[in-house]
Amino acid sequence: MSARLIDGNRIALEVMEEVRAGVGGLHAERGVVPGLATVLVGDDPASHVYVDMKNRDARELGLLSRQTTLSASTEEAELLALVRRLNAETDIHGILVQLPLPVQIGEDRVLQAIDPAKDVDGFHPVNAGRLATGALDVPVPCTPQGVVELLLRTGHDPSGKHCVVVGRSKIVGRPMASLLLRKGRGGDATVTVAHSRTPELGKVTRRADILIVAIGRPYAVTRDMVKPGAVVVDVGVNRIDDPSRKTGYRLVGDVAFEEVCEVASAITPVPGGVGPMTRALLMSNTLAAAWALTADGAAHQVRKPMEDAGAER
Ligand code: NDP
Repeated sequence: MSARLIDGNRIALEVMEEVRAGVGGLHAERGVVPGLATVLVGDDPASHVYVDMKNRDARELGLLSRQTTLSASTEEAELLALVRRLNAETDIHGILVQLPLPVQIGEDRVLQAIDPAKDVDGFHPVNAGRLATGALDVPVPCTPQGVVELLLRTGHDPSGKHCVVVGRSKIVGRPMASLLLRKGRGGDATVTVAHSRTPELGKVTRRADILIVAIGRPYAVTRDMVKPGAVVVDVGVNRIDDPSRKTGYRLVGDVAFEEVCEVASAITPVPGGVGPMTRALLMSNTLAAAWALTADGAAHQVRKPMEDAGAER
């Protein structure tokens, strides 16, 4: 193996420590504690694990975290009413509705109901549209933002590079491409987006200085699809059977890690690459939302300093 490992666990801790300092700064300056509300609908075990981790991260960094769990039979109207209540709560600055939602609930309608200022996942069409038009002051989906941080903090600035993004989903591929295209920090790349209808995918991926893969297919990107010396970011998280493990499965990426290591100059592992960054950037987005929502002149009501609020009760 010759590729250098891009250690997402280490860099995520770095980002988390910056968030912890920022939480202290916000409290010192405005008496505000950033509040994250997570909403979980149904019994999907993976979603439960993800939401638990997000709440634990929030508490460990000094954020207020509030989880609401609803049954799998919840009607859309009930979820929309909850989102509207959270939109109105002044001590909640970020709202995250864990996806996927049960079939009877329209995902788009729920995401559109979230106040764009509290949309810490960056999935609201207003925020997605603003990102696509190059806006800088907009909440950006956590995974692509995490990828950019990984690249910048390991000396792989996308500026001037040819980045190939494989996958065009609204949560990873599309915002990833928009971020890399943006002017300024983390952007200024030449971007190609590929997907399942791209003919001769290998020809396209081999042109990448930085190859970002988010397709959800284990080991789909093989050694022959990577230009020697390229930086490879593997967003994929796939469960494959592994009877040697107690759980009966293990997690692998979309990239054939061992063989691609022989040609890439740097690569993210799975697990321990992009995943921890996604969690860290959610905390960072919540902190940023709290600053924005409590700024002088913000449309939302500014919370009083903690001491004053306490005295009122
Ligand atoms: P989606 O299923 O929403 O999108 C997959 C994309 O990959 C689609 O655009 C699809 O093309 C494309 N695609 C599928 N198969 C191929 C193929 N053989 N060749 C080229 N393109 C292909 O997935 P997500 O974007 O939500 O997630 C992608 C992966 O990233 C998953 O493994 C997911 O678990 C992981 N993930 C990891 C996160 C993390 O924090 N590490 C966070 C979010 C996701 P088309 O549009 O034509 O169908």
